[in-house]
Amino acid sequence: MVFVISCLSVNGKMSLLTATPSAQSSVSSRLLRLSIFLLLGLPDSKGKAIWTAHLNITFQEGNQIISELGESGVFGNHSPLERVSGVVVLPEGWNQNACNPMTNFSRPEQADSWLALIERGGCTFTHKINVAAQKGANGVIIYNYPGTGNKVFPMSHQGTENIVAVMIGNLKGLELLYLIQKGVYVTIIIEVGRVYVPWMSHYILYLSYFLVFMFTYYCFYCTWRPQMPNYSLRRRRQMKVDVKKAIGQIELRMLKEGDKEIDPNENDCVVCFDTYKPQDVIRILACKHFFHKACIDPWLLAHRTCPICKCDILRT
Ligand SMILES: [Zn+2]
Ligand SMILES: [Zn+2]
Repeated sequence: MVFVISCLSVNGKMSLLTATPSAQSSVSSRLLRLSIFLLLGLPDSKGKAIWTAHLNITFQEGNQIISELGESGVFGNHSPLERVSGVVVLPEGWNQNACNPMTNFSRPEQADSWLALIERGGCTFTHKINVAAQKGANGVIIYNYPGTGNKVFPMSHQGTENIVAVMIGNLKGLELLYLIQKGVYVTIIIEVGRVYVPWMSHYILYLSYFLVFMFTYYCFYCTWRPQMPNYSLRRRRQMKVDVKKAIGQIELRMLKEGDKEIDPNENDCVVCFDTYKPQDVIRILACKHFFHKACIDPWLLAHRTCPICKCDILRT
């Protein structure tokens, strides 16, 4: 069953968004304070949230017992969220608004529990709910103005917190009214349906989650940031150890008379630009490039790569 719920005022909450903390506050305390404000500002079950009511309507038509179940109403803002049932009873008199405090209800004698079906208008919700409650109704069903179709909204009816009050659409209300006026015995079980959080509350809810997330991230970042240099320092140290170890494993050779490396036509050491001489100790990298040990070791420690072909000694 389709129905429309009108928007609730959220002006009170919007003002929280514009709250400006003092300039001295740190970012974290500002974020935390705003998040808590917003979380506390969320709708509670009786206030801003809207609870739908399932109406299980049963009546007899001819030999048939007809029963229909629909989410056709909403609980009033000040109504207990409870299941209530009974025979549906109309106000006596020329109108159905039950504004006159003397209004009687044509309650069947056999009915233990009864629900008043009252038209909206003529006086406040509180007033008509109280009139029915004083006559002993176990619950009040108010149907909306003519011309509003099946539109409903959560009524405000302060001071009637002990009696279940729901609003149903005008069309559904008239349907019930005509049945009862024809003398049909109609019973209804009102049950608590689902909760709807109005659009703006959703917005505030998501904003709160976002702020809590940002705050957590900020705290996490603040906690871990001082450890980051230590971590990179440890990594650099470990890398140095690995490089030293790799250098130690690279082939060494002492040149002697007759080696082709000593040939003056061969290249010089690219680090010191000196020629190779007998008794020089050279390191021969995996890429087959060689250099004076004394020249290449400090270079490798600093650069890790062959000065000619850039091959990485840790990857060979
Ligand atoms: Zn050299
Ligand atoms: Zn090389």
